[in-house]
Amino acid sequence: LVLLRVLPLISQLNSIRSSFASTATSVDMVSEFLSFTNKPFMGNGELTYTKLEKGVSFNSLSFKYPGHEKLVLQDVTLDLPRGQTLALVGGSGAGKSTLADLLPRFYDPIAGSITIDGKDLREFDVISLRKRMGIVSQDTFLFNDSVRNNISYGRPEASEEEIIAAAKQANAYEFIIKLPQGFDTLIGDRGVMLSGGQRQRLAIARALVQNPEILILDEATSALDTVSERLVQSALDDLSRDRTTVVIAHRLSTVQKADQIAVLDHGKVVETGTHEELLEKGGFYSRLYSMQFADRPDKNSPRLKILSA
Ligand code: ADP
Ligand code: MG
Repeated sequence: LVLLRVLPLISQLNSIRSSFASTATSVDMVSEFLSFTNKPFMGNGELTYTKLEKGVSFNSLSFKYPGHEKLVLQDVTLDLPRGQTLALVGGSGAGKSTLADLLPRFYDPIAGSITIDGKDLREFDVISLRKRMGIVSQDTFLFNDSVRNNISYGRPEASEEEIIAAAKQANAYEFIIKLPQGFDTLIGDRGVMLSGGQRQRLAIARALVQNPEILILDEATSALDTVSERLVQSALDDLSRDRTTVVIAHRLSTVQKADQIAVLDHGKVVETGTHEELLEKGGFYSRLYSMQFADRPDKNSPRLKILSA
C-alpha cells in the first residue's frame, strides 16, 4: 500500500528534478512530496541566501533515500571554489544525480553536510537558495505555454530584450523565429513538439534569463544529432563560464576542461583531480578513459558512454 502511494510521487519528483528549482511551484511540490513520505521537511532556515563568496563544500556526507536501506552516497567530501567547475563522472547508479539533487535540497543528507561559505544549506531559506541555482538536464521540464513564457519562467519580469538575448546566446533564436508564431508559439502537449536538442536549448535560455549563481548540469547528449549537440555544447559552455558549476559530465571536452573531476563509484568518491592528474595516476579514471577513447571513430565528439547514466 505504501509503495503504491509513493511510486507515482517519485516519478513526479523526477520530473521536478529537471524543472527549475527556483520557483514557488517546484518548492511547493517538493515539500508536498516530502510530507507525503512522512519525512519532515527539515527546517527552513532563517538566512536569506544572497551571494556566494568562497565556495560550496560537501563535508563527509552520506545519504540514503527515505524508505530504502542502501547508502547511495557514502562519506562524500568535495570542495568547489566559487567560479569553478566540478565534473562528476562514474557508472550508472554511482550516485551522481543524487549528489546534484542535494544542492537545491530536494533531499537532505543523513550525515555530514553541504555548506556554502561555511554555512550549512539548512540555515538558509530554501526559496532564496533555489532562486540562485539553475538546473539544466536532458529531460527538461517544459510547460504547455508559449516559448516566451517557458524562457522567462524562472524570472517572469524579464524584458523582451533579455528573452531574445538569452535565446540567441542559447542558440535557440534561429529555430524559434521559424516556428509558426515565433516566441508566441505554444509548445508541449497541445502545441508544437520540439526535438530533444531544441528543448535543451530552451532550458539553457531559461537558465540564462534566470542568471543563477550556481549551475547544475546533466549534460547527456545521446539523444541529440551532431549539429544539435554542437549547438547545445557551445550554449552550455557560455552558460557555465565564470559560474560555479556542478556538471554530470558525459562529454570528454567537458571532463578535460573541468577544474576538478570527481569519480564516483557505488556512492563513494574514489578519485579526484584534473584530467591530466587522473590519467597520470593510472587508476579508475584512466581505465575508464582508455576503455572509452582508445579507438573511437568519431574523435570530434566523443562521449563517455560507459560513464553516462
Ligand atoms: P547516477 O546518476 O550516477 O546514475 P543516481 O544518483 O541516479 O545515480 O542513483 C544512485 C542510486 O540511487 C541508484 O542505486 C539508484 O537506483 C538509487 N535511486 C535513485 N533515485 C532513487 C529514488 N528516488 N528512490 C530510491 N532510490 C533511488
Ligand atoms: Mg543520473
